[in-house]
Amino acid sequence: MDNEEKYVEEIADQEDNFSKWYNQVVRKAELADYAPVRGCMIIRPYGYAIWENLQRLLDARFKETDVVNAYFPLLIPRSFLEREAEHVEGFAPEVAWVTRGGGEELEEPLAIRPTSETIIGHTYAKWIQSYRDLPVLINQWNNVMRWEKRTTLFLRTSEFLWQEGHTAHRTLDEAEERTKQMLEVYRAFAEEDAAIPVIAGRKSENEKFAGALRTYSIEAMMGDGKALQAGTSHNLGNNFAKSFDIQYLDSDGQRKYCATTSWGMSTRMIGGLIMVHGDSSGLILPPRLAPYQVVIVPIWRKEAEKSAVLEQVARVEKMLKGKVRVKVDMSENTPGWKYNEWEMRGVPVRMEIGPRDVKNNSVMLVRRDNRAKTPISVDALETHLPELLEEVQQALFQRAVEFRKQNTYATDSYDEFKEIIAEKRGFVRVKWAEDSAAELAIKEETKATLRVIPFDQPEGGVQGKCIYTGKPATCEAIFARAY
Ligand code: AMP
Repeated sequence: MDNEEKYVEEIADQEDNFSKWYNQVVRKAELADYAPVRGCMIIRPYGYAIWENLQRLLDARFKETDVVNAYFPLLIPRSFLEREAEHVEGFAPEVAWVTRGGGEELEEPLAIRPTSETIIGHTYAKWIQSYRDLPVLINQWNNVMRWEKRTTLFLRTSEFLWQEGHTAHRTLDEAEERTKQMLEVYRAFAEEDAAIPVIAGRKSENEKFAGALRTYSIEAMMGDGKALQAGTSHNLGNNFAKSFDIQYLDSDGQRKYCATTSWGMSTRMIGGLIMVHGDSSGLILPPRLAPYQVVIVPIWRKEAEKSAVLEQVARVEKMLKGKVRVKVDMSENTPGWKYNEWEMRGVPVRMEIGPRDVKNNSVMLVRRDNRAKTPISVDALETHLPELLEEVQQALFQRAVEFRKQNTYATDSYDEFKEIIAEKRGFVRVKWAEDSAAELAIKEETKATLRVIPFDQPEGGVQGKCIYTGKPATCEAIFARAY
């Protein structure tokens, strides 16, 4: 086989088999690998570099809202998990337990954290005494474990990396405000940094977090029309405060329960990037999260040309250092192979430097998203490249917005709803009376779930009947098949 063809030739067609395409891109772009234990994942350096960029940008956004980082332990005593009834019921099937240690049976089994509300609730009860101690605004970057039955690299794994924020407040109103504030942080991160358009709103009773009063989420549309929950923010009300006795003495001399929140975004987001932006040649990374924003490919045919080309490459690399993330591909592969490889790995811009470019003191820039080629003078690079990267970032976002628009439907007919879900996929917006039994029936009949009740509702309220029950509708809701 011709080397230069190999990379693209082997990936499945997105249209034919999206999940095969996805898995192949994850492996070939060297983002992740399967682990010896089913459901676990090895994140390779290139995938981890995306995670590091995500962490850096999201962490900065948290800190702008006065959140600070800390670290809580991996193991949680069983008695802690059992204290919040709904929480334990919701998480029980997914919890992995440590029952032996030091060669002995443990007196009390220890849960590997599936999430940390319980151990953090226990700790906050000790830390919080007075209204002067509030609010507490803490986040941790860590791993959690949920024994998932069906797993997909990044999207759903048993062990995953994430951040979990946990806040405690004086009033329910303040907790509600913080819950929405953090959802807005996720929305801004998803749209501005990951170039993924999302719909923000509230989850239904069925889909909310175990133990929460209310769950908000951002939902994104993947390249096959399915939905991905990309981040969640929970208003836990007084539920965990009551179970863990998180009380404070208020300024009126009364002891009161705190109101708490929690919110999380995980390595799933990397799966979202692949599924939203990727194409038939592989990954396309938005510049703000790309480990390398520009890859330089030196080109020469005769040995005599080599030194002049490499000299120019070194000069350009030095000039751009600290301004854009640059990788120079000095491997022994042919230029064609390198083009294919870096396309597969989604680098936003390729820079070709050959003998003729050296002579003209210019370079050739090739965009990954639309393959547009522009020669540009070396002297203009410093100002032009950051602008070009920003253009690519915006173009990816706009393309995803357009795709979502084309694959979003509205209907009042349940027959049509079923047809859309079965044949077209995408999001379906319907009038809804917030009936849990109807929601379960729809899931049973179509596999579509209620993704979100968008914040963005018709002005003056919803007129008309629920698509399933015929009862007067109270809102509009978005249904879709989901990952
Ligand atoms: P939760 O604590 O259930 O609200 O989850 C917080 C966020 O983590 C969700 O919004 C998901 O995007 C993500 N998440 C949940 N389960 C998994 C999983 N098994 N693998 C990867 N990400 C997950």
